[in-house]
Amino acid sequence: RIPDPCVMVIFGASGDLTRRKLMPALYNLAYDGLLPPGFSIVGYARRPMSDDEFRASMRKAVERFSRRQPIDEGVWEAFASGIFYFEADFADEHAYPKLGELLERIDRARGTGGNRIFYLATPPDAYELIAERLGEAGLAQPADRDSWVRLIVEKPFGRDLQSAIELNEHLLRFFREDQIYRIDHYLGKETVQNILALRFANTIFEPIWNRTYIDHVQITVAESIGIEDRGGYYDRAGALRDMVQNHMLQLLSVIAMEPPIAFEADPVRDEKVKALRAIRPIRPDEVDEYTVRGQYGPGFIGGQPVPGYRQEPRVDPNSQTETYVALKLFIDNWRWADVPFYLRTGKRLPRRVTEIALQFKQVPHRLFTGPAAAGLEPNALVIRIQPDEGVSLNIAAKAPGPRVRLRTVSMGFLYGTSFLVQAPDAYERLLLDCMLGDSTLFTRRDETEAAWLPITQILQGWAEELPPLFPNYDAGSWGPPEAEEFIARDGRRWRRP
Ligand code: NAP
Repeated sequence: RIPDPCVMVIFGASGDLTRRKLMPALYNLAYDGLLPPGFSIVGYARRPMSDDEFRASMRKAVERFSRRQPIDEGVWEAFASGIFYFEADFADEHAYPKLGELLERIDRARGTGGNRIFYLATPPDAYELIAERLGEAGLAQPADRDSWVRLIVEKPFGRDLQSAIELNEHLLRFFREDQIYRIDHYLGKETVQNILALRFANTIFEPIWNRTYIDHVQITVAESIGIEDRGGYYDRAGALRDMVQNHMLQLLSVIAMEPPIAFEADPVRDEKVKALRAIRPIRPDEVDEYTVRGQYGPGFIGGQPVPGYRQEPRVDPNSQTETYVALKLFIDNWRWADVPFYLRTGKRLPRRVTEIALQFKQVPHRLFTGPAAAGLEPNALVIRIQPDEGVSLNIAAKAPGPRVRLRTVSMGFLYGTSFLVQAPDAYERLLLDCMLGDSTLFTRRDETEAAWLPITQILQGWAEELPPLFPNYDAGSWGPPEAEEFIARDGRRWRRP
C-alpha cells in the first residue's frame, strides 16, 4: 500500500536525528518506491540556509548514513526536488502562518492535498511550544474532511509520571490522540516485531510461555559506547529514564502481553498496557531489593583506554547520574506470577548487544547428573535484537562418544541467513506506518503513563536514600559487582551474551 501524498515538516531539521536517522530513512523509502507521489519535506530550524544548502547537507547525510550505497542520482534528484527549508525560531508566532502558506504552495505545486506530518525532532522542552503554536495557527487540524494531520513526538516523553501526564494533556489540547504518534524506535526493529510473530504465529511457544515453564526472563541492553556528545542531556536523564522507561519496558511488554484479538493498533496496545499495569509497585524503602545503580569509571574498551563518565564533556565532575541499572520486576497476573524479569542496561560495557532470554526451569527429575551433566544449562530461548538479529533455542544434547556427556547446543534462526536481506532501519518502518495512519508500533497515551509509573517509583526511592559511591564499575566490565550479587541472591546469574 502506498500512502496518501503528504508533506512532512521536520522541526529540528539541522539536528543530529534528522541527519543520522530521518533523512536516510526517507531516502531509503524513496529508493524502494514506497513514498507517495509528490512527497515533500519541509525542514524547520533556526540557522540560516537556502533550500539548496539544506538539500546539499541532507545529501551528505544520506551519503554517510543510508544503507543504500552508492546514492542513486535519479532517485536523489526526484527526492531532493521535494525538499524545502524554513528558517525560524520555534517560539516565533509569526512564523507559523508563513509555514502554513508554504505548505499550501507545496500542496498546489506537488499535489500533497493538505496531508501533513509534523515531526518533533527537537529538544524535548520545545514539544509543548510547537504543538501550541501549530494549534494557534490552525495547522493542527486538517483543513477539510479528506485530508489528515499527524504529529510524531520523539523521546524523551516526560521526565517522570507527572510531567508525562502534563505533556499528554498539553498535546491533547491541540491534537486528538489518534493524531499523535509517540515514537519508540525499538518497536520499529524487525526482531521486536518478530517477537509477535514468534509468539502468535506458532503453536509451539505459547503453551510454555508462562510461569509453569519459565524460571525467569533477562533483558539486556548493553552498549560499549559512552555518552558521546550527549553529556548535557544524559547527565540530567540517566540510564533508567534514557533506556528502561521506553525501550526496555516496550520489550518487556511484548514479551509479557496476552495474545491480542487482532493485529491492529488498539487491540495490540490494549494488551501491552495491561502487562505494564500489572508490574508490581516498588515502595521507596524497597528500591535496594529491586534495583542496582552504577556509573563507569575509566577503563578499556577493545584495548583502548577510555575516560570515566565524570570526565566526559558536559558532565558534572561530581555527577550522581547512573550509567548502569539492573532491576527486577514482577508482573502480577496469572501468566507471570512470581517470575522475575531481570532488566539491565549500561554504557561502556564490553560489547553492544540487545537480547531477551527466556530461561526455562530445570527438568522435574534429573536423569543425568555428575560429570555427564557438568556445565549443562537449563533451556533458554534467546531473542537477539542487535546485532546479528535472530532467535536461538538452547537445548541439551549428547556429545559424540562412548560415554554419556551432555552439552548445551543451540538451534538458531538468523535473520541474515534466512532472508538474505538487510533488515530495514526501524525509522523506515515507523515513518511509513505513520504516513499510512497505522499506529500499532507507536505508544499510546495510557502506555506511556503506565510505563512511567514504576520508573517514577524507583526514582522516588533513589531520591530518598544516600547516594551510592560512584564510580563503581570500570569501563569495559559488565557493570558493578553489586549487580552480580543482586541476581546471585536469587540463586541465578546474568547471562554472558
Ligand atoms: P540536536 O542535534 O540538538 O538538534 C536540535 C535541532 O533543533 C536543531 O535543528 C536546532 O536547530 C533546532 N532548534 C533548537 N532550538 C530551536 C529553536 N528555538 N528554534 C528553531 N530551531 C531550534 O538534537 P537531536 O539529537 O537531533 O535530537 C532531537 C530529538 O530527538 C531529541 O528529543 C532527542 O532526545 C531525540 N532523539 C535523538 C536521537 C539521536 O540519535 N540524535 C535518538 C533518539 C531520540 P539550529 O541548530 O539550527 O538552531
